[in-house]
Amino acid sequence: MSIHIQKPEISAELRAFLDKPKKLLIDGQWVDARSGKTFAVEDPATQETITHVAEGDAADVDLAVAAARRAFEGGPWAKMLPAERASLVWRLADLLEQHADELAQLEALDNGKPVTAARSADVAGSIGMFRYMSGWATRLTGETIPVSSPGEWHAYTVREPVGVVGQIIPWNFPLMMAAWKLAPALSVGCTIVLKPAEQTPLAAIRLGELVQEAGFPDGVVNIITGFGETAGAAIASHPDVDKVAFTGSTEVGKLIVKAAAGNLKRVSLELGGKSPQVIFPDAKLDHTIVGTASAIFYNMGQCCTAGSRLFAHKKVFDQVVEGLTAEAAKLKIGHGLDPETTMGPLVSSEQHQRVTGFLQSGREEGAEVVTGGNVVGNRGYFVEPTVLAKTNRDMRVVREEIFGPVVCVQPFEEDDLDSIAQFANDTEYGLSASIWTQDLRKAHSLARKIKAGTVWVNTHNWGDAAFPFGGYKQSGWGREMGKEVLEHYTETKAVGVKLV
Ligand code: ADP
Repeated sequence: MSIHIQKPEISAELRAFLDKPKKLLIDGQWVDARSGKTFAVEDPATQETITHVAEGDAADVDLAVAAARRAFEGGPWAKMLPAERASLVWRLADLLEQHADELAQLEALDNGKPVTAARSADVAGSIGMFRYMSGWATRLTGETIPVSSPGEWHAYTVREPVGVVGQIIPWNFPLMMAAWKLAPALSVGCTIVLKPAEQTPLAAIRLGELVQEAGFPDGVVNIITGFGETAGAAIASHPDVDKVAFTGSTEVGKLIVKAAAGNLKRVSLELGGKSPQVIFPDAKLDHTIVGTASAIFYNMGQCCTAGSRLFAHKKVFDQVVEGLTAEAAKLKIGHGLDPETTMGPLVSSEQHQRVTGFLQSGREEGAEVVTGGNVVGNRGYFVEPTVLAKTNRDMRVVREEIFGPVVCVQPFEEDDLDSIAQFANDTEYGLSASIWTQDLRKAHSLARKIKAGTVWVNTHNWGDAAFPFGGYKQSGWGREMGKEVLEHYTETKAVGVKLV
């Protein structure tokens, strides 16, 4: 593992963005928070302040919701043809593409992630999401229903946009989470109040500028930067928000559900995970080791899908652990803006404390630190990629979501798939799982037994705009991406016509 933490230069384009005041986007205008407050945004690699942004709260959320309501009920957006909506969403994707390098740098600076990964995954994935979802604007249809009532009937369904949607997103993929939320909602004609995470508000602000440049009417996309307990809670409880879409921790997901009960707004949740990776002895080991290491170390382990519980058959266990250790050693820890960096800092001091707290608890509970286990340097929120062995189901590091580059490895000797499924499913979460084998029967059969929204075979963390994503159990409600997400943003109206 090599360490090189120096902040490289940023592009003139990004510098120009950073130098501008960072306000709230309400009804097509960039405005200060009503309170006049701002908060600092920190570079997690250096702990330096990058800039300040407006701190929106309930008063600003009220204005944003009112603007979104007006845009939904009347004006150009409400009258816009599906093809026109599609082309606006596509144009937004084009603008992201034009500014891809700048956006990747922005993510690296604000979140800490490696700029190369930001470019190839976050930015590319966001562009792909807008392009894919734009197609649904003209393709989403209702059905005609062959009813059995006496007489003549014309019965059909229409899909209508659900209305004003509140979208609350986390800090691990700031731009991509915004894209996952905005793209389907815009394509079907909703209007939006988006709240990025307080740790990483910058990508959403830049995206807001591009939304305006693309030509979306005023009030269709409103962006409120601010804190969860104030701005976020105000969105979740707002009586004039028709639906709230949330991605974040399971703990806050439960608060959202409670807050949403006031007006029974629709709720979708994409929450935590403790995803298993199951390695069979017949897996292609070289490929598997690279893949399973990436499953946990990618994005510094700050993925809700992180493959944090790794079960390797005892015939290959030692090789897998050696391989993971070697992969950890290859990672280049550094500032996210450095193109050589493959592992950046964690996002914040809070997250750093959380992960180091888990490392401590793992040690105390008797886990063996095979590699890693320490913080790196004395500036920035870096931790070493860590492999913990001799772990068991009762340890906190095995049960709770760490959200850092820490994998708990356990050998298994069972061959029957029911027993394997049992330990893979031994968690309150059910977001994802991966199976590593060359045996098709095992792969598909175990995939059926796993209680998770996504099961990967011989890969992990792979996604596609067309591929639905979401959780079983306490990992959430509903699915994002694919055609499934359109359920969240539409109501089905049934029209029954008696032909008299
Ligand atoms: P993490 O613990 O990983 O930071 P959170 O679930 O706290 O994730 O945050 C995800 C998003 O939820 C952020 O935008 C945050 O501001 C927001 N949030 C946090 N608390 C609340 C709350 N009580 N109500 C609404 N949103 C919240």
